[in-house]
Amino acid sequence: MEKDSAIELKPEDIQALEEKYLFATYKRSALYCSHGSGVYVYDMSGKRYLDFLGGISVNSLGYGHPRLARVLTEQGQRLIHCSNLFYHPYQGALAKKLVEVSGMAKAFFTNSGTEAVEAALKIARSYGSIRAGSGKPVILTLKNSFHGRTFGALSITTQDKYQAPFRPLVPDIEIVEEFTVDALEKAFSDRVCAFVLEPIQGEGGIVPLPESFVRAGRALCDRYDALLIADEIQCGLGRTGKYFAFEHYSVKPDVLTLAKSLAAGYPLGAVLGNARVAESLGPGDHGTTFGGGPLACRLALEVLDIIEEEGLITKVDTLGRYLIDELKNMAQRHRSIREVRGLGFMIGIEMGDAAKEAVTRLLDKGIITNAAHETVLRLLPPFIIEKKDVDEFLAALDAVLKEIESAA
Ligand code: PLP
Repeated sequence: MEKDSAIELKPEDIQALEEKYLFATYKRSALYCSHGSGVYVYDMSGKRYLDFLGGISVNSLGYGHPRLARVLTEQGQRLIHCSNLFYHPYQGALAKKLVEVSGMAKAFFTNSGTEAVEAALKIARSYGSIRAGSGKPVILTLKNSFHGRTFGALSITTQDKYQAPFRPLVPDIEIVEEFTVDALEKAFSDRVCAFVLEPIQGEGGIVPLPESFVRAGRALCDRYDALLIADEIQCGLGRTGKYFAFEHYSVKPDVLTLAKSLAAGYPLGAVLGNARVAESLGPGDHGTTFGGGPLACRLALEVLDIIEEEGLITKVDTLGRYLIDELKNMAQRHRSIREVRGLGFMIGIEMGDAAKEAVTRLLDKGIITNAAHETVLRLLPPFIIEKKDVDEFLAALDAVLKEIESAA
């Protein structure tokens, strides 16, 4: 790696700069990232870390993938940005690809997940007003959900810790408090324009929704002429061992949001909609300066090609089953593991207070994870990890749990 001037700073200087000049929004761990390669991240002292978090479901292809590096260089020299006033070859091509793999009909590109959710909410309200004027404004959302931090997305993110200081939020949002068909039936009415869900809740602690519940959601949306919106920003694009998590439920949403791993680290999000909502955004209804730029879209096309050519979704499914089975076996030996949840490479280990301690101790041993919802050890490894990496992780976790349990 070539030296860069910022890397001349020592960790304590970096921390001091951030403390002085940044809003204190992030509680960072003491990992000072220098560079990455394959499944590894290296800190500024050269220590190597096995990455089992993938930049929170972003780095699905790990670090320094040569094909992505080539696209970055080539397209970086050719055209990074040209504005949405003009055409370039990659936005339509990426929309076509995403429409084909998802069964949707139309796409709109954003820079982030929360913006994809905002666009989905605008589609929902627009659909409602086309169908019933002002009589269909209600958006249903689930308890324990996370959809982002801009005002619309925050309004359907039903966790007090995110919402409390920012109220009042967007009106006509109603929360379904239980994942039961009964609760859902009570929540629906003709006033509902959309029901939003994460098939597997991510920030909420890796919580797969019950199959009967999601299916009932689809049926109720049909009955009440409402849209089913699947937020697959964390769980989509191969993460669960299928292209999209909704496939595990044998339902199709009307609207689908994506981001995170779409361009495997370069910011890009998308909202996709089926034919039902194709008219819900018309000229001037929505827009963005950066969304869908040539570099981002070309990168995403390359990401999807690599995932398909290398058979990575099947690999996530197979290796994910092995990892989950081994974790369940480990739960027999370790009282701190209360439950193992998830699919593919989206796994949560419910551990109570031990979760944060496990994250810290794993980091000391050179493995990156995090704690979602305080009590859940969350694993979102890159799709390119191999069985030997899984075994290394399992051995480290076993050792860490022994340490924690013997200290308790
Ligand atoms: N929706 C889900 C399910 C997410 O997991 C996230 C981020 O964690 C978001 C939306 C927001 O995405 P972003 O952080 O890119 O705005």
